[in-house]
Amino acid sequence: MKLEDPITVVKGVGSKTAELFEKIGVYSISDMLLYFPRTFLEFPDPVENGLFKVGNECAIRAEIISRPIVKKGKIPVVITNVTDGVTDIKLIWFRSVYIASQLKPGSSRIFYGTVVSKDGIFTMEQPRMFSEEDYVNLQKNMQPVYPLVLGLKNNTVRKTVKYILEDDGIKESLDEILPYDIVKKYGFNSIKKTYESMHFPKSKRNFADARKRLVYQEFLAFSLRLKYERSLEDDRGNGISVKNVDDIRRLEDTLPFKLTNSQKSTLDDIFNDISKEHTMRRIIQGDVGSGKTIVAFFAMAAFASNGYSSAIMAPTAVLAAQHYDSLCEFLKMTGLPYEAVLLTGSLSEKQKKDAREKLERKSPVLAVGTQALIQDKVKFKNLGLAVTDEQHRFGVRQRMNLSEKGNDTHMLYMSATPIPRTLSMILYGDLSISDMKDMPKGRLPIKTAVIDDSQRKKAYQLMMREINEGRQAYIICPLVEESELTEARDTFTYTKELKSILPSYVKIDMLHGKMSPSEKNTVMHRFARGKTDVLVSTTVVEVGVNVPNATVIMIENAERFGLSQLHQLRGRVGRGSAQSYCMLVNGSTDPKAQERLNIMHESSDGFYISEKDLALRGPGDYFGIRQSGDPSFKLADIYADSSILKDAAADAQRIVETAPDSVSELLLKLKYRVQP
Ligand code: ADP
Ligand code: MG
Repeated sequence: MKLEDPITVVKGVGSKTAELFEKIGVYSISDMLLYFPRTFLEFPDPVENGLFKVGNECAIRAEIISRPIVKKGKIPVVITNVTDGVTDIKLIWFRSVYIASQLKPGSSRIFYGTVVSKDGIFTMEQPRMFSEEDYVNLQKNMQPVYPLVLGLKNNTVRKTVKYILEDDGIKESLDEILPYDIVKKYGFNSIKKTYESMHFPKSKRNFADARKRLVYQEFLAFSLRLKYERSLEDDRGNGISVKNVDDIRRLEDTLPFKLTNSQKSTLDDIFNDISKEHTMRRIIQGDVGSGKTIVAFFAMAAFASNGYSSAIMAPTAVLAAQHYDSLCEFLKMTGLPYEAVLLTGSLSEKQKKDAREKLERKSPVLAVGTQALIQDKVKFKNLGLAVTDEQHRFGVRQRMNLSEKGNDTHMLYMSATPIPRTLSMILYGDLSISDMKDMPKGRLPIKTAVIDDSQRKKAYQLMMREINEGRQAYIICPLVEESELTEARDTFTYTKELKSILPSYVKIDMLHGKMSPSEKNTVMHRFARGKTDVLVSTTVVEVGVNVPNATVIMIENAERFGLSQLHQLRGRVGRGSAQSYCMLVNGSTDPKAQERLNIMHESSDGFYISEKDLALRGPGDYFGIRQSGDPSFKLADIYADSSILKDAAADAQRIVETAPDSVSELLLKLKYRVQP
């Protein structure tokens, strides 16, 4: 068996299973190896003598005391009674008649499941049953829990991975890819052992070690590519330079507001860049609402006044349309005689054709659009500047090649996720950075409070007051469903509970990542149109949601989120003119958690918060939520793994300097083995 073989070479994987694997993006053996568990199940020690907790999952050591009863019907049922020494428990299985023959009265077994009290009788439904010996074996290893799709069983994935890892051909092909000195310096385990521990770790420590190696490889590949590509670029410049921008700068005075100091100094940076010979590659970092768009418009206007076209690309059609309207207004206010052109996938064929014709024939124009702008059939006349808005949505690495539409055009990126300087210097190593730290005046700060369980009632009262005034609220839960491993709040249970607590006229909806994109869209639209009062959601609302009528956000188990993520979540409210509120429910009794969350109460400055986040973050909780969620990385978290990032960046620098010839081969190996 070889890494690049199709997954069907694995024994037992037929066309049906292969179809299911396709749905999770697994086509080859190496895809399967890179399909890591979502979490691990650790089986607890069995309890006896009535020491179980009703409502919690547990393992009970108990003796079977009655002959099983089998009720054959539409849904066959098997019932038996057991005792754990003190308490009798009724066990029920559905659709599993075969189990009756294994239930020998007088024998002792371990039963794993949730005990509930039904009509005063302790009951376990569908418990898993083990012999003492099997259970002990199970306890020795952490059991992988894979992300699944309908029809695909966890055990199928587990067995397939196991089969692959035991294959001699695979064992042989998983040879070392990192330079020896690096493996030695960090004490990394072999690649083979790393994959074993990613899927079947012996302990948390064992898993953390494996993960660390793969995170390092991700960061090394990232840093090497950045430095390598930079070294291939020439700095002779593109011959596009923009002069006489003073007239454009003076148009500031026609605006209905004064530019902030950050906006002014960012414009200085940009105009300085583009008046020179070399090609501008600059990223503007600034919180949501800091006013990045108008800075881009000024830059586009400067290009137009020198005869060059420019384009700004946004991640969604809605945002692009919004930008188009703002740009038209900007041109009107400033009295500039240039034309704005909109191009998105949601226009009619005729409109798209017209827009494309304009871009190809006319110059200068100011183009606004989505990824539709970078399709092959789109051509620009004289493109001087390419702007990518909301760069963070594409990931720190993914630079849209809008600039290739011109001849080495100037490039401007904008991101609404402030990242600490030390990290952005590495992650944006190929770019110059402008930070926009101050916000336009006159915004009402969001009132933020850190509360605990005992204040929940008051929190709901505040929420109800806002709802009764026609406002809307978000409630964020860290989990989609109840989890085997933690007691954190999940959207399903929460929504059910909330419906029984709040008055029945309050309309409550639920949103989470396990929904299909169209389901998510429907729910979000309902909320945006004010049809829903409360949206119980996971962090999927973090990006790109704009509902100005929402004035309350309540974040459950806030201690489980990174501060930067909390800051992004908080930014979902405070988008209209009304006072908004953010309530952070601290589910932990650790004084450190309280201290950390208090920073949110103290500051609304995204840069300050991200610096604190970095300073306070210890080694990541690898079983928790991946906090930064940057789509450029599969495993790595730029905050929790920041020290690994710094190491990898320094190593990459050294490799590029001392062994430049080895870089492309190393990159190839890293890409093949780590990157999906
Ligand atoms: P973001 O940085 O999130 O992209 P926008 O560019 O969308 O922010 O700006 C948010 C709002 O603030 C817009 O309505 C814009 O017109 C307004 N705005 C921008 N700059 C200023 C300013 N200096 N003073 C007042 N309002 C401003
Ligand atoms: Mg913006």
